Amino acid sequence: MATYGYRCDVDGPVEVRLPMGTAPAVIACPDCGGSSVRTYTAPLLGLADRRRMAVIDHAEASRTEPAVVSSIPAAPRATRRPAPARRIDPRALRLPRP
Ligand SMILES: [Zn+2]
Repeated sequence: MATYGYRCDVDGPVEVRLPMGTAPAVIACPDCGGSSVRTYTAPLLGLADRRRMAVIDHAEASRTEPAVVSSIPAAPRATRRPAPARRIDPRALRLPRP
């Protein structure tokens, strides 16, 4: 189910939950029964994790606007080993470990 936005001339904005891809251009208003025209809004990208979005934005920007440096960056200090990639298959978690 997805939430679709409509605008009723009497009641204003109306939200209706319908199966994805089945929203008609005009529906009967659930409150007054009048015709409501579908409206479109931007996706709710603002609800994403800000740190994750900053990393994604930085990676995207580095494709077209790479950082210019005047010297070789210092080697990163030895830190903890990165966590292993998360296994997707849950059956892998039940396998014996060394
Ligand atoms: Zn209405």
